Amino acid sequence: MFTIDAHLDLSMNAMEWNRDLRNTVFEIREREIGLSDKPDRAKGTVAFPELRKGNVGLVVATQIARYVAPNNPLPGWASPEQAWAQTQGQVAWYQAMEACGEMVQINDLASLEKHLALWSDTTIPNEQKAIGYILSLEGADSIVTVDHVAKAHEYGLRAIGPAHYGPGRYAQGTDATGGLGPHGRDLLKEMERLNIILDATHLCDDSFWEALDHFHGNIWASHNLCRSLVNHNRQFSDEQIKELINRGAVIGGALDAWMMVPNWVRGVSTPENMNCNLEVMLDHLDHICQIAGNANHIGIGSDLDGAFGKEQSPYDLETIADLQKIPDMLRKRGYSKEDIEKVMHGNWLRFLRNAWK
Ligand SMILES: [Zn+2]
Repeated sequence: MFTIDAHLDLSMNAMEWNRDLRNTVFEIREREIGLSDKPDRAKGTVAFPELRKGNVGLVVATQIARYVAPNNPLPGWASPEQAWAQTQGQVAWYQAMEACGEMVQINDLASLEKHLALWSDTTIPNEQKAIGYILSLEGADSIVTVDHVAKAHEYGLRAIGPAHYGPGRYAQGTDATGGLGPHGRDLLKEMERLNIILDATHLCDDSFWEALDHFHGNIWASHNLCRSLVNHNRQFSDEQIKELINRGAVIGGALDAWMMVPNWVRGVSTPENMNCNLEVMLDHLDHICQIAGNANHIGIGSDLDGAFGKEQSPYDLETIADLQKIPDMLRKRGYSKEDIEKVMHGNWLRFLRNAWK
């Protein structure tokens, strides 16, 4: 079934993990044997051949670069200008992948419909189809001034999550507290003017509520799970989920094990001993459906290879192609054919068609 994944850090993998995503997952792993600079070496799950194998024809793909003040222990750049330059390298990679026919940027209704027509043509093998990507920015620190938003919109940026981990220049993120401040509100105003989607993922509670109060455009949450199942500020409370549903949002289910099962200890827990499989993510999506009273607000935003690999992913997922196991799992849970299609792609498409009409 045609599948949309609303959160993949593809350019980060290419530029910081040095992965040529045109190779298979297994070729990339092979090349990383013996490397120990990152905990997920030789454990990646995402590459173009596996996206095609899994019918994942459209993704939301990120730019990502954090600014850190001198007292901030998180990894990041020493100035917003450096972070901006990093994201420009990432854009250059996406453009290089377009130039060789591997990817195609989807940035308006016409390009979306054209792309969907291509992927629904079963006479063309997936190997010959470019993977569509919608460009998103995870954490807005690299936006040097609010004027840079228009520059970014020009090269195709269509969604922004103002925060990532820790304190940010425009909003406070996961594990931080506090509101947006005047710069954050200006950022939201400019996003609204340019019809850029607000990604509510990673906003801390204070910034989340302030952002929703001040932003009147389209809101989604690209990769998020539920606080009532795994209690952490990175997850949404039922109250936040309710508000997102009221605002017409779609929430993408993530496949990062520590968000899926309680009491995960990084580097110690394993997917097997924590019983973390794809069904667990569906438990979270089910919970959102219970709150909504329908299946109209959930999708997939896997975050696979988002600085973790197989060691922190569901044990029944070898590569991203295994997202194709989900339709059957939903069927067994009693989801209708129509609802399964909504989860795999339909809800994101409804959202985009409405946002870009
Ligand atoms: Zn994230």
